[in-house]
Amino acid sequence: MKQADKKRPHPAAPMSESEESDSLFHAVFNQSGVGICYSDFEGVFIRVNARFCEITGYTAEELVGHSFAEITHPDDIAIDARLGDELIAGTRGPYTLEKRYIRKSGEIVWVRITVTLARKPDGTPYRLVGVIEDINHMMLTEQALRASETRLRQAQNIARIASYEIDHRDESRIWSEELFAILEIEGTVDNPTFELFEQRVHPQDRALIQKTNAEAIANRAPYDLTHRLLMPDERIKYVEVRGQTSYADDGTPLRSVGTVQDVTNRKLAEIALRQAKESAESANRAKMDFLANMSHELRTPLNAILGYAQMLETEHAGPLQPKQREYLRDIMTGGRHLLELIQDILELAKIDAGRIGLKIEPIDALTVIGDALPLIERMAAARAITLHVARPVTALPLMLADRVRLRQVFLNLLSNAIKYNKLGGRVDVTCAETRPGFLRISVRDTGIGIKPERQAELFVPFSRLGAESMAIEGTGIGLSLTKKLVELMGGRIGYQSVVEEGSTFWVDLPIAGQVRGQAASAEPPIPAHGEGLQPARAGSNSRITREERRLLYVEDNPAYVRLIERALGQIPAVSLTTVHTAELALVAMRSMAPSLILIDCGDPDPLRQESRRRLLAVAEQRRIPVLDFGANQASERTSGGGEPVDIPRLLSEIERRIGISG
Ligand code: ADP
Repeated sequence: MKQADKKRPHPAAPMSESEESDSLFHAVFNQSGVGICYSDFEGVFIRVNARFCEITGYTAEELVGHSFAEITHPDDIAIDARLGDELIAGTRGPYTLEKRYIRKSGEIVWVRITVTLARKPDGTPYRLVGVIEDINHMMLTEQALRASETRLRQAQNIARIASYEIDHRDESRIWSEELFAILEIEGTVDNPTFELFEQRVHPQDRALIQKTNAEAIANRAPYDLTHRLLMPDERIKYVEVRGQTSYADDGTPLRSVGTVQDVTNRKLAEIALRQAKESAESANRAKMDFLANMSHELRTPLNAILGYAQMLETEHAGPLQPKQREYLRDIMTGGRHLLELIQDILELAKIDAGRIGLKIEPIDALTVIGDALPLIERMAAARAITLHVARPVTALPLMLADRVRLRQVFLNLLSNAIKYNKLGGRVDVTCAETRPGFLRISVRDTGIGIKPERQAELFVPFSRLGAESMAIEGTGIGLSLTKKLVELMGGRIGYQSVVEEGSTFWVDLPIAGQVRGQAASAEPPIPAHGEGLQPARAGSNSRITREERRLLYVEDNPAYVRLIERALGQIPAVSLTTVHTAELALVAMRSMAPSLILIDCGDPDPLRQESRRRLLAVAEQRRIPVLDFGANQASERTSGGGEPVDIPRLLSEIERRIGISG
């Protein structure tokens, strides 16, 4: 100790107690980490330390003799002065205040000042002593935090997204203000509970919430559920709740955080949209059913009219005068036109209702073209138009399409190219790969062309672009139907046209990625005619004796029954049994063994369809051939001819099936 004492510098002379206390005070005052100031009772600085100068930006000389008010923010002067006065008056003890000084540079600095009273030895108040801490940084951080909280609150309010936190150790919760707003709970609750939330949950959704929550925890997956809230006034709100939970190592849930978004408007819009869609679909279904029924109801008597006209034309009932022939032709033309129109409307409605079934398969375009040409040749010949199909030099790839629909598309384009051509004109059909992955069938004519100002109406149903005044038969549906069919098959349709020179319509369809010939051999051969007739059942080709020719005809339309009865009168040794329904046909089949059943399967009535199905099944079992009258007409239509029931052809088909001919 002594040694150490020796090394230590000793003051030259020992200090008195008051001198020592003075020196200590000076050291503390000048080197303190906090600001210290003395002032008189008016608040005039008498002494300030270095740290106080640092905080305020003034020198001690600049401060001494000036009042605290001169460097205090105007908003904080009054409170500081009042508290000081109370301190001096002895009505309060030392006080602490957070206030602002204005630094010499003009900046504001936040301080925490603690003011005490220095007293004389006799106890009388003597000076005010202020100890000042710079809390500027803390205050700015706090302000920034408050501003950010306000912004968050505003954002939550605008987006209607609230947030929550759950501490799973004690199930305590923190809810943002917006959550109270969404739940419409007045004010905020310090300790919100799950029960408080559940009060607002729609009773029917409570089980779902529990299940989703349990699953999320079991799988440690995020929670995501949209459910309903039921407000006290019976209003329903929709909320989308998303949350995430953190877990302890042993899998115990620790903390969940999440958001609750009010999605009522979006949900109501979705519901309205769905309802609108459903009612549109149901309206469409009703329209479809109506059209299907109407088309059947119209087609049947119309076919009877046309059938009678054909029978008259055969002059079986007696020779016709030239005028009568002419009238008959008019009846048949008008009837066919009507039939075509009905069929087209039905097709269009079917496509719109998405009720058209397609069988997309690799197809050789040239085969389809080849099959369609004979159907249109008569029409071309009548206008002295030459049809020319360009044969490609190299094999074409197969295209992906529905064979029957493609033929329908092609026939529509071809018949237009003939109808809107000049007498003696020409139609050129080409098939080529024009853009990668697509094969193009083009139909070029040398016809009247389409005026540029009317081209926009080309694919609009029932729009005939003025052709109605040209005595060219048509309905204005063909192209719109064609376009829809092409698009359904994944293709495109387009055209080019020059008035008085002609038009080219083209269809692009996807390539199947196979070379012609490969798939073609795998496809069933296309029958040249009679396609709409049900394929003859086993045994239909077997020759049977004349006595066994019994025809069972299922039809409820008396006009039709009479027509067929009379038409069959032309075939000798055929007996005809007519029944109204397929059920009756089944009964009749027990007592007779028909050689052929003649039925119209085109009737869309579902009940009748069902019993027809049963009849067809029994017929198949008993190897009785069936001739579908309706399919006959429908296929004639899809093959583009628009032919009604063709009596001579029907008779020859019956003869073929029951073994009289072929
Ligand atoms: P439709 O031939 O039954 O009137 P479409 O829908 O097939 O109905 O055609 C609509 C209209 O487009 C026709 O009425 C006709 O004015 C015009 N049009 C179609 N194809 C051609 C063509 N190749 N040349 C000139 N005009 C055509």
